[in-house]
Amino acid sequence: MHHLIKDTNRVFIGDQIPEKYLIDNNVKNVNRPKAVFLPLNEDEVVEIVKYAHTNDIKMICRGAGTGAVGSQVPVLGDEFIIDLSLMNQIKSLDEETLTLTVGPGVLLEEVQKYVENKGYFYPPDPGSKMSTIGGNVSTNAGGMRALKYGTTRNYVRSMNVVLSDGTKVKLGGLTIKDSSGYDLKDLFIGSEGTLGIITEIQLKIIPKPKHQKSMILAFNNVVEATDTVLSILKNGFMPTALELLEKEAVLYSESFLKQKFPSQVGNAYILATIDGNDLKEIESTILVIKQLVEKQVIDFIILDEADEKLAWMIRDNILYALYALTQFEMLDEVVPINQFGKMIRYTKELQEKHKIEVLNFGHAGDGNIHTIILKKDYSDETWKVKRVEFLDDLYDKVKELGGLVSAEHGIGYTKKSYFLKITDSNKIEIMRAIKNALDPKNLLNPTKVF
Ligand SMILES: Cc1cc2nc3c(=O)[nH]c(=O)nc-3n(C[C@H](O)[C@H](O)[C@H](O)COP(=O)(O)OP(=O)(O)OC[C@H]3O[C@@H](n4cnc5c(N)ncnc54)[C@H](O)[C@@H]3O)c2cc1C
Repeated sequence: MHHLIKDTNRVFIGDQIPEKYLIDNNVKNVNRPKAVFLPLNEDEVVEIVKYAHTNDIKMICRGAGTGAVGSQVPVLGDEFIIDLSLMNQIKSLDEETLTLTVGPGVLLEEVQKYVENKGYFYPPDPGSKMSTIGGNVSTNAGGMRALKYGTTRNYVRSMNVVLSDGTKVKLGGLTIKDSSGYDLKDLFIGSEGTLGIITEIQLKIIPKPKHQKSMILAFNNVVEATDTVLSILKNGFMPTALELLEKEAVLYSESFLKQKFPSQVGNAYILATIDGNDLKEIESTILVIKQLVEKQVIDFIILDEADEKLAWMIRDNILYALYALTQFEMLDEVVPINQFGKMIRYTKELQEKHKIEVLNFGHAGDGNIHTIILKKDYSDETWKVKRVEFLDDLYDKVKELGGLVSAEHGIGYTKKSYFLKITDSNKIEIMRAIKNALDPKNLLNPTKVF
């Protein structure tokens, strides 16, 4: 296998495989892969894939490994891991078509910084700034600014893909319109490494909005906060970001960072940002929102630059804090925005019913909740049973409200059973048929998604 990549620093076999490939925050039963490869270019990817195809070896792509559903994790054992993190070149910026061409291993943070330095903007903004663009495309990552700007899907113009037998294909292109057959690019976005390996991506960028302002709205309880989310949206306001944070989530982040959130009253918060090119218009929008929510809020703070940075840092670190401080399971359910309040209320009913502590945070503006269920003092055996009882109830409600198991993290390994449970079986069959057509030997990331 060493012949596939000549540089021995970029191939790890058997016992040489570094620890980071063998541990995961969300999956306990990681199994040792056969080998890990770190290709530098598409030709090397093709070589590895052709060898794996000929020898019936399963393959799992990996970006930065921040995936939240175990999609990048070897659970069968004996797979090839194709780690694309060294294909991390920003290749070209085309200011005529407003596109940025990158390798799949470039970090989101690097893309954001690079384009912002040149007066442009790449809107997708998952909390995990150290994730790769290839990973973002493969999970159709969402993040904070999806409400106004959409998800990663909306910012992929084209991509190069290597199929399971080593065939190379370019999907998408620079035309604005495309009614020429099936949209294969969109099919690959969010496919979690099950259909092909992305080796290059042409991203859409936009001019950077000149100004932004953020505000915090504090509430006595989470139900009042969710009612307010709906009232802001149905009055036609379109914030860049509209995040809901329960106090307990903020407390974890505060104690992790040893910093205080700018508002210290109430039990739930909305953290919102408005951006645009006209500062006066932004300020007057904020004042209109303030009047609209006056009766519901117990605190309304328009943040200066330093507090804005602090508030968003606390938001971005909730998950890191939870990983560091406690044991939990994170959900990623999404419901139509008019059902958001009902869904949050239901998580609190389940808290009482199952005696499992629940906290919610997430992208409230687009109906996406990260419900966190905390293991606390339950033994492993008890937790195993209780979490299933809780999740059975929760996903039945998600289905009843017209929602989905995942808004942005994907299905991967950990959400598979619930995805299969609440998704129309005809749709699953179509997905299986597509997978079979593109990867008949089932070599690319098997056991994931379905
Ligand atoms: C603290 C934290 C905060 C997060 N916040 C958000 C958030 O706000 N929004 C959000 O959407 N997600 C969030 N996530 C989840 C995660 O960061 C995203 O799913 C991210 O897109 C994964 O990127 P990655 O590079 O780490 O990919 P990996 O974890 O390495 O892989 C994820 C999936 O992509 C596939 N893949 C990776 N690269 C390729 C490639 N080149 N070709 C084909 N398949 C590939 C893998 O096989 C796997 O299925 C968060 C995670 C953490 C830890």
